[in-house]
Amino acid sequence: MSALVQPRLVNGPFGDPVLYLDFRFERRAILFDIGAFAPREILRVSHAFVSHAHMHHLSGLDRLLRLRLHTQGTLHLAGPRGFVDQIEHRLRSYTWNLVDDNSTDFRLQVAEFDGRTLRRACLRARDAFRRWDVDTVEARDGVILSEEGLSVAACLPDHGTPSAAFALRETQRINVWRSMLDEIGLPVGPWLNEAKAGLRRGCGDAHVLSVPGHGTISLGILRERTPRVSSGDAIAYVTDAADHEENRARIASLATGAQRLFLEAVYLSRDRSIAKATRHLPARAAGEIARRLKVRSATPFHHSPRYLETSEAPEREFRRAFAADEVVA
Ligand SMILES: [Zn+2]
Ligand SMILES: [Zn+2]
Repeated sequence: MSALVQPRLVNGPFGDPVLYLDFRFERRAILFDIGAFAPREILRVSHAFVSHAHMHHLSGLDRLLRLRLHTQGTLHLAGPRGFVDQIEHRLRSYTWNLVDDNSTDFRLQVAEFDGRTLRRACLRARDAFRRWDVDTVEARDGVILSEEGLSVAACLPDHGTPSAAFALRETQRINVWRSMLDEIGLPVGPWLNEAKAGLRRGCGDAHVLSVPGHGTISLGILRERTPRVSSGDAIAYVTDAADHEENRARIASLATGAQRLFLEAVYLSRDRSIAKATRHLPARAAGEIARRLKVRSATPFHHSPRYLETSEAPEREFRRAFAADEVVA
């Protein structure tokens, strides 16, 4: 069975950064950055983690809010220090005289991360998006979201301003093989999420699951036949970071062990002076970072539009550094 989460760079390597993380069998998705975008599945987004508020990383927020405004439930947003103010001010730039207690109960939970703590606020549509400061909690080991089965950790590389990098990890992976399901005549489907949650929680063998259209099955049957537990999948997302040792160390401590890495590779080496001035990773530096992390797959993105006419050049330079042998001095 393929990975739980399927990542997709919605706007490709040259467009505004948006990594859409689609959860298999769940009507749920997570975003890393909210550049201008319009995927069909936007209503599935439960959490959006924003690296920083440079416009091309956040300008899709209006569209996201526009589509979510009349849906019940909570949308979670998180970013670096100052993010709660920025979202509050964005909302205050609109007129909300038509929302009241009878409006759909749509809420925003907004959090900002300063490297150690998470400061949280809530803004409700019914309350014209007035800000309520909720609390400040410790983000141990940089973990800013912890749910059954997954966590998201952050660190704050320097980009002239803090630019958050994120790593999503499955805390425990349970693979259910399709061939086994075929053997016992059950279909793949959303019911497997409940099964996996039961296995993670250690529910008893007698625990009964219902399989729509196929009756019920006890967890014990699944436990004895299938579940292979392996270390979880991890996806790291790093963008807008100057190339210096401190940033490389921060990125390494966040992304070590990640199987899949999405990493900015903005400029070619020949333009390293621009990379330095704008505090971005050049393609070669990004490739070196990915190589040292020993990730299974690395995807460079956020290429400068100055290379659109030679669009393969940034990725080529990245791949060359990613594949190179370590130089022994
Ligand atoms: Zn930036
Ligand atoms: Zn950027």
